[in-house]
Amino acid sequence: MSEPHEDTPEAQMARLILGLRSQGVTDAKVLKAIESTPRELFTPQLFKERAFEDSALPIACGQTISQPFIVGLMSQALKLDRRSRVLEIGTGSGYQTAILSKLARLVYTVERYRTLMREAEGRFKELGLTNVITRFGDGGEGWPEQAPFDRIMVTAAAPGEPTALLHQLKPSGVLVAPIGRGPVQTLRRYTGDGKGGFQVEDLIDVRFVPLLEGVAKEP
Ligand code: SAH
Repeated sequence: MSEPHEDTPEAQMARLILGLRSQGVTDAKVLKAIESTPRELFTPQLFKERAFEDSALPIACGQTISQPFIVGLMSQALKLDRRSRVLEIGTGSGYQTAILSKLARLVYTVERYRTLMREAEGRFKELGLTNVITRFGDGGEGWPEQAPFDRIMVTAAAPGEPTALLHQLKPSGVLVAPIGRGPVQTLRRYTGDGKGGFQVEDLIDVRFVPLLEGVAKEP
């Protein structure tokens, strides 16, 4: 049982960071980005009290905000540096986008629900994140006009190898994506060998909502 005085937002965040560290998210820059991003801003009112929990939570349009551990692990796996131009597919709440924006130079993010896109844009503005560029559309096609990218992160499960996206990666770039058709997928990292090929690594099992084709129809 935790003492009541431990339950300040700072203490909750400290616990979350400690937990991520113990699960293998050890990159200091990634942990700092998570620590400085108010996750409660990205969760629906109903779940604000659970914003510091290490769990995925429901957001609008039947989607989810990813679990902090997965956000940390994927951000770390992407091997970002301050000069990276990153493409993110699946803006959702914008939480992962906000973390990326603190680790990279520019973040291009694509979402197929207009509602989610608009809400996320409001949060980026509120947080003063000026290096995020949003697009409403089908992220499965990437963002050809802005390609090639140094890094690509997909935050919805691709049914198979994300060929169109791999084509938009620089020769020595890195792409991280959940791959699989079932409820459990494999988080896979593709690292360009500089000659048009890729080294492929399976990282862990994950559960993401599927990457769907086309844009969502909304009332
Ligand atoms: N990174 C998000 C997680 C969002 S869940 C966060 O931190 O909150 C995955 C998101 O991918 C959903 O919002 C879903 O609508 C979106 N998505 C699914 N298929 C897509 C596609 N083809 N193009 C763009 N976005 C897609």
